[in-house]
Amino acid sequence: MTAVKRTESQDTFGTPTAAAKEEDMQDTRGREFARRTFPYIFGIGFPALGVIAVIHKAAVAVYLIYALVTATALLAERYIPWVPIPANRRWRNRHTDLAYLATAPLIMLALVTWVPPVLQTVRDWLFGDAFLWPVDLPTYVQAPMAVLVVELAYYWAHRISHYNNFLWRSHRVHHSPEGLDWLMSWRIQWLNEVIHMTARLIPFAMLGMPAHVTAIVLVISNTHALFPHANIDTKSGRFLNGFLNTPEVHRWHHLQDLRYANSNFGDVTLVWDRVFRTYNPPGVNKSALMGLPAWERRQLPEGYLKQLYRPLLPDAPRVTGRKSTGEEPAADVVADSSSAELVEPHHPDWPR
Ligand SMILES: [Zn+2]
Ligand SMILES: [Zn+2]
Repeated sequence: MTAVKRTESQDTFGTPTAAAKEEDMQDTRGREFARRTFPYIFGIGFPALGVIAVIHKAAVAVYLIYALVTATALLAERYIPWVPIPANRRWRNRHTDLAYLATAPLIMLALVTWVPPVLQTVRDWLFGDAFLWPVDLPTYVQAPMAVLVVELAYYWAHRISHYNNFLWRSHRVHHSPEGLDWLMSWRIQWLNEVIHMTARLIPFAMLGMPAHVTAIVLVISNTHALFPHANIDTKSGRFLNGFLNTPEVHRWHHLQDLRYANSNFGDVTLVWDRVFRTYNPPGVNKSALMGLPAWERRQLPEGYLKQLYRPLLPDAPRVTGRKSTGEEPAADVVADSSSAELVEPHHPDWPR
């Protein structure tokens, strides 16, 4: 006779006790609350804290906020993970990602320090003293305007990076992980960072945006960047998903199938994806394949040092558009069948 294993949460017959059921209910409610609350904390709360720190010229506070964002993401990924992270992808085993974590912020800092003076010289030469930016407007009007203008520049730099083979080779480093989490959000190859950051800085310099407005836009972008990549099972809702880059919408962008991945190019906001009709609403299934197709993965060596120079060397061109991965995947493989209206992405044929 086998002994029946009983725990305190089960009664004599092995069924859950009322107390255990109540505990389960509370846990479920807690997770549900977290799924709906974290998007506001990451998408609005942290960027807002960053803006307050910039307005008060508290540079140290900005770094503390970055640390807080990371700590919160680590907690959220444990509490409400979207998919379980396998052992070989846990952060202590990922030397390439850790090398990016150590170097990408420094490259970013160097670019925002050295590129604007160069662009400023070009602007002075082109426009002289002419002001193209409404510097007299209050900061709370200038800042959202600046976010939109800078996002427009980023949108096109990012979209072109997906279609130009030379630019794609450095950008695909960011697309190479087969799963998303807070750590891979830092995986940005140096040439990719130079191009995308310069694209952002061009409107600042050319239009003559004031330094404090520039700082506000950059802090919003940086405090938000981790959120769309975090492995968190968020329920951001129609409002946030409609204009903000959330994990639910950004997952489309990391799918292996280019017909779906060539969408949601925005950094902080997806406003320009809506304008240029590349917006996909949430609907990626947990079993959908992320990262690069096998033939492309073979062309990109793993390892930080190799990834420093490999994108500069030519290789087989990327096949874009419908022919990207051969067989058309079943809609339920790509999209979440629980949200029927979202099964088909906005533009399956895009681009022609
Ligand atoms: Zn991309
Ligand atoms: Zn991404």
